[in-house]
Amino acid sequence: MINFTTKNVVILGAGRSGTAAAELLLANGATILLYDNNEKLNKNKKLIAELRDKKINYEFNTEAVKDSAWDFCVLSPGISDKSPLLKNIRGIVPIISEIELASLFTNTPIIAITGSNGKSTVTTLIEKILIHDGFHAIACGNIGYSFSRAVLENSDKDTIYVVEVSSFQLEHISKFSPDTSVILNITPDHLDRYPSFADYRDTKLNILSKQIADHRAVLNVDDKNIRNYYNTRASIVPVSVYKKSTQECWIDNEELKFTFNAKEYALPFSKILLPGPHNQSNIMHAVSAVLPYLKSAESVIATLKTFSGIEHRIEYCGKLKDISCYNDSKATNLDSVQAALKSFPENIHLIMGGRDKKGEFQLIETYADHIKTAYLIGEAADSIQSQIPKIETQICNTMENAIDSALNNFVKGDILLLSPGCASFDQYANFEERGRHFKQLIKAKK
Ligand code: ADP
Repeated sequence: MINFTTKNVVILGAGRSGTAAAELLLANGATILLYDNNEKLNKNKKLIAELRDKKINYEFNTEAVKDSAWDFCVLSPGISDKSPLLKNIRGIVPIISEIELASLFTNTPIIAITGSNGKSTVTTLIEKILIHDGFHAIACGNIGYSFSRAVLENSDKDTIYVVEVSSFQLEHISKFSPDTSVILNITPDHLDRYPSFADYRDTKLNILSKQIADHRAVLNVDDKNIRNYYNTRASIVPVSVYKKSTQECWIDNEELKFTFNAKEYALPFSKILLPGPHNQSNIMHAVSAVLPYLKSAESVIATLKTFSGIEHRIEYCGKLKDISCYNDSKATNLDSVQAALKSFPENIHLIMGGRDKKGEFQLIETYADHIKTAYLIGEAADSIQSQIPKIETQICNTMENAIDSALNNFVKGDILLLSPGCASFDQYANFEERGRHFKQLIKAKK
């Protein structure tokens, strides 16, 4: 392991991963300074008290890092490398991603999962299967518990780190080399941060770049953006929902099949709780990734029979006057909205909108016959309406108006689906707050 006691490190971004990176480096003897250009953080009494308590040096009233005498810079995912903060160090100080930093502090296995959609679901599923099998497994990274904090708090245990990795976290990778990488899909997203789709795609594929021959790369070969562009030294485990591409895991006649210790196992999808065709792909990636670590095939079967998914992902939230309601607030791009629409063949009252991420809303028209009416909220409402002329729409502005309009318009057995296809930041702090608001309104109107 590198000796950090002689290192001077600047950390950019005082969010969850930046502060955890600061603690991890301090605990290993480095000299650090935590920077953020959000001056409001100086008024965040809780954060300031915490930083003082932990003896973390910080500076939050600056336009740019002032000097360039640093051994390296740790960049939080929320800060783009185009940020003015980096003005004086760009091209001078080496930059590494927070996940790369964390990976330098552990020798135990890392399973890293990326993709445009399904990361949190697959990360959680892998963690649950491993725990069922008796491992000390920790889901971390983009899922909310930063990889740096996970490493800081678990270094005394024989942990398998199951790391959800976003494209932002893969922007500055020169050593990050997971034992198993998983790429679920690459579809348009975050085109407000990347100059082109090709840049976004190549950043995702970076997860493979430092793997070695002993490592495994579980890749969705149904996705042409992965199949035609990947490049790695790791051994490939191809995943396809259409054809039997490996002996490890495949679909046969509505059953999930996999091989473990030379024996074949089958589990009908009717016994698996995760809903929708997109989750069949997610499950196959999770099972293919986890099998070589397991002691018992029963861990896969038992977990799939009990894991019904995570909050805000096509989450069933009860009936409101004979309409079944689903909260899919995490659907912040158009591919995830399409996954939700594919899950219900007809009679959907769809609530969409929020802050536009340059989404191609016309894609929704492919599922026009699944949708009765789309109720449009937030900043993107007018733009969405102009892009989906084949679908009946109502501009509702707020969530409450949208639910009320759907209630005036339903017949028994219809479906009310919040699947926004947009970011939440125009009306909510985050997608969780948006999803909780939807659920509260449903509960209040019952
Ligand atoms: P991520 O962590 O990549 O955002 P999540 O598991 O949190 O993924 O799911 C986010 C959204 O994407 C949800 O709306 C979910 O229903 C949808 N989704 C999950 N898996 C897939 C998939 N394989 N393809 C398309 N959409 C998906």
